Amino acid sequence: MRPFKYTNARDAITAAKLQAENKQAKFLAGGTNLLDLMKEGVEQPNELIDISRLDMANINYVKGDNGKKFLHIGGLGKNTQAANHPLIRKNYPILTQAILAGASAQIRNMASNGGNLMQRTRCSYFYDVNMPCNKRVPGSGCGAMEGFNRMHAIFGWSEKCIAVYPSDMAVALSALDATVKVSAVGGMERAIPFNDFHRLPGEHPEKDNNLGPGEIITAIELPENNFADHSYYLKVRDRASYAFALVSVAAALEVQDKKIVKARIALGGVAHKPWRALAAESFLVGKEAGTASFEQAAAAEMKNARPLEHNKFKVELGKQSIVLALETAMNGKKSW
Ligand code: SF4
Repeated sequence: MRPFKYTNARDAITAAKLQAENKQAKFLAGGTNLLDLMKEGVEQPNELIDISRLDMANINYVKGDNGKKFLHIGGLGKNTQAANHPLIRKNYPILTQAILAGASAQIRNMASNGGNLMQRTRCSYFYDVNMPCNKRVPGSGCGAMEGFNRMHAIFGWSEKCIAVYPSDMAVALSALDATVKVSAVGGMERAIPFNDFHRLPGEHPEKDNNLGPGEIITAIELPENNFADHSYYLKVRDRASYAFALVSVAAALEVQDKKIVKARIALGGVAHKPWRALAAESFLVGKEAGTASFEQAAAAEMKNARPLEHNKFKVELGKQSIVLALETAMNGKKSW
């Protein structure tokens, strides 16, 4: 690991200013991904700005400017606190399920909510500094394109990068139509709709998200919804723990008289960002809630997949996973 300067930020405005002035600096919150990347030589910041002690951990309902209530989840709260919070368990159980599926208890105790959204791909070529990787070294090539790409994307990839985004929490937040609140230099604030927060790789896979210099995730906000009785997070992986998703599905339904009024489906393990299954969602609205509709919705979504040499299995796995997640959501199963 290379030497770096450590700065303990007193407040968000100072932290934002420091990071905006030094492009080589990184914010440090839980450090559960960043420190690994530094040990491997993948990330080489010359300064860590420690924001972990800033007062941004509240979880509570707040009324917005438009008079609508939303759940405010502090960006520096721990994943454990979010997963176990009674308001999240009761009203957004799919988020609890996703966080618990995402990591061990030890990691959840350290990882922050904002940091969860900032974690980087687990593409093995990204971690191997002896291999070409456009995400790690722009312009160097993509080792995975001609390599072993079983874990890689089937949607939205580019010739520059075929990596997938690793967070489970982010997949649930995508389905829940979350908003990411950020503060920047001078205390300016902005709100980013969740599905605009992460990026597809395009020509610049080195950029994982649309944060600007000095911007800090202060909170994640969730609108009220009627999905709590019919939602489910399904994660399919090679083994039961300490593994990232081959495919995951966050499925949420609002149902009246057996007819689907609203559907939200997001997929993990298939793209460079949480992949909203918009074709499946729009197919389901107005349909009878049942396996026949779920199978047609899954087929409508997966017909647009572009698998690679070693991950063709993800197309059928994705279809079956969507159907199973929707069936389980419909049955109202809440397990964690
Ligand atoms: Fe790097 Fe992306 Fe290629 Fe992986 S898929 S080697 S992260 S450019």
